[in-house]
Amino acid sequence: MAFCQIDADNRKKLITPKEFPLNLPYRLAEKIEKNSLDDPIFRQFVPLIDETFSPPEFVPDPLEDCSFQRTPSLLQKYHGRALLLTSGACALNCRYCFRQNYPYDTHGGDYSFLDELEVLQNDPSIAEVILSGGDPLSLPDHHLESLLIALDQIPHIHLIRFHSRFPIGIPERISPRLLSIFELISTQILFVVHVNHPKELDADVLEALKKVQKLGIPLLCQTVLLSGVNDSVETLEALCRSLLYNGIRPYYLFQLDRVKGSAHFEVEVEKGRALIAALQERLPGHGVPTYAVEIPGEKSKSRLMEQSHPLECLNS
Ligand SMILES: *Cc1c(COP(=O)(O)O)cnc(C)c1O
Ligand code: SF4
Repeated sequence: MAFCQIDADNRKKLITPKEFPLNLPYRLAEKIEKNSLDDPIFRQFVPLIDETFSPPEFVPDPLEDCSFQRTPSLLQKYHGRALLLTSGACALNCRYCFRQNYPYDTHGGDYSFLDELEVLQNDPSIAEVILSGGDPLSLPDHHLESLLIALDQIPHIHLIRFHSRFPIGIPERISPRLLSIFELISTQILFVVHVNHPKELDADVLEALKKVQKLGIPLLCQTVLLSGVNDSVETLEALCRSLLYNGIRPYYLFQLDRVKGSAHFEVEVEKGRALIAALQERLPGHGVPTYAVEIPGEKSKSRLMEQSHPLECLNS
């Protein structure tokens, strides 16, 4: 952290947790403004003392992931899609990560996912598998390759979706080898990249994502609404434009999941709605993400945006 040139006063506001420590790639650290605790990259990744003040509604497992396990690494909450926790490892350790306390099954270092593949094989109602984590791109290429090939062989799986934040930290991960693995399989792939601030999208990141797109893999973006990071119309508009003009569709804007230690990131839902309303006035319809939250037990993510005008006129 010497790199950020934080002065003695500001340094008192930092902590060094043993669990879920700072884990910031150099290229992201380089983008941080010197001696600023308000920098949007700094806030997302560097542990602040604010994490230690946590109201009781902020809990270790806010999404009750553990009660939706079909195996320790396969979660199913919604019809037709299952989420595979490919790896507990993550290159970034975002401070607000809702899965930071998940008891990942590390498979004793075995990444053959035999139990998970068996469940998927035997359940024809599952048409889409989401590779999540941690981050699916933390898996070494050879493990990812055998996993994709195995999924490709299950006839009722029609979509393989990646949920990854890796490219913004290490765009080189989108290597020729990885791209050739994507090309190996015939099942349609979809790539959802997690980006919260326009500063995260530099030329190298966009170039890496473009290579994925050129394979016919649609790119979507999911964003978490974070206080002091992206809770302004200007920031969200700049983010959406940058995505849009690079062929990436803003998919979800998520209300923060109330994980322990993240209270300082919460934005009120009313403010979130106002931000979306403002975006709707500035951007094309396909450039505005869906504002949503996950409520455990619901059959889909819950939309948070009310209609801006009453719809009664349609019925009269
Ligand atoms: C968010 C989530 C999905 C994906 O939901 P979509 O609305 O299809 O993007 C699927 N499974 C789990 C367990 C999830 O948390
Ligand atoms: S990249 Fe995703 S999995 Fe990793 S810490 Fe951030 S939110 Fe969590």
